[in-house]
Amino acid sequence: MENNNIINEKRCVLCNKPYNYKYAMFGRGCLDNLYGLLEFSKPPRFIWNKESYLCTQIAWKNHKFFLSKNKKYALAQKYIALNYLNRMNYGFLDDIKEGILKDINSISVFSKNMVDTISFSLNDIYKLFNYTQKFDELIKGFQNINWEDIDEKIAENFIKSMSFIFDVSKKVDPISYAVFYSMQYTFWQIVVIGGMLKDKKLSARLLSNSLSLFGKEPEDLIIQDSITDNLLKKSVVFRDTIKELTEKYGSETGMFDLKDYEKDGVLLKFEGGDLLYSLHKATMFVKAIKNEDNTWNLEGEINDTYDFTEFKDLKEYVDNKEEILADVFSTLLNNFGVVSYEYGVIKKYDVKIKFNFSNYKID
Ligand SMILES: [Zn+2]
Repeated sequence: MENNNIINEKRCVLCNKPYNYKYAMFGRGCLDNLYGLLEFSKPPRFIWNKESYLCTQIAWKNHKFFLSKNKKYALAQKYIALNYLNRMNYGFLDDIKEGILKDINSISVFSKNMVDTISFSLNDIYKLFNYTQKFDELIKGFQNINWEDIDEKIAENFIKSMSFIFDVSKKVDPISYAVFYSMQYTFWQIVVIGGMLKDKKLSARLLSNSLSLFGKEPEDLIIQDSITDNLLKKSVVFRDTIKELTEKYGSETGMFDLKDYEKDGVLLKFEGGDLLYSLHKATMFVKAIKNEDNTWNLEGEINDTYDFTEFKDLKEYVDNKEEILADVFSTLLNNFGVVSYEYGVIKKYDVKIKFNFSNYKID
């Protein structure tokens, strides 16, 4: 049996704090704030019930007159919810906002049943609004970070402070799903692609491609450009592998097609930098022909599945101390990536890097 105190306890539908004033929905503090939020002028002094007055103002603003108290109060909650959602300013909330607007429009003095196309609790929406406020603050702080010479501890703390947006439990409700999806999408776009990966063009491009807007699948990527060519030519792992292959299969004939010897190709595990962040379990195929001056013409491709969850593997073979961000990527961002994959913010796809090098020197 519950005791009377609990039964009689009123909780504010906005902040969920208990209150014992005469109002039916809001505590006095919240009601006061709502006048400001909705940009309504303060009620005249002689108004006895400022909550009822607010609901009437909302009804009038929506051109609805003579509504019953129930309808008026329900309308007020929907209108306040819509106002908070508008302040969050995420395109992904558009359908939800439209639904609430439809519900608002369907309330009239004649309507029999209240239509709830979108069901919500005002407290949940209020909490979501507070999450987005906190997120916006953090993003602002982020804009002052210089990722090229940031201290590892500071980088880690900054990324950790964003943990709350990677909460799997928020996926269940459609409104919080939309808000958390949007915050995560923004995080990957602004913090990772625009910040941490700013000087890592290939990684940034691959992550961009994997961030797909709701309901859309990313396309597989084929990449062949001078930036990537240079990354490969400078990579110790790539150079060593090519050297090994030419010695193994090309020393006698002066030419080989790797497919003839190794049908699955060779595995490349890159040592650091842009290639490490981009490719995780990449397989290479190559055709090679030796020139008279002992250089080689190489034509090949490197294949991988872009799957952010693979970042956890990085830790196993990253021992490059100059790579400040490698550790953050291999631990924290991996966990965030797993969550964003669950949300459908980050998606899997296949990537193929093609290269065609003439007169490539083996050293
Ligand atoms: Zn309150």
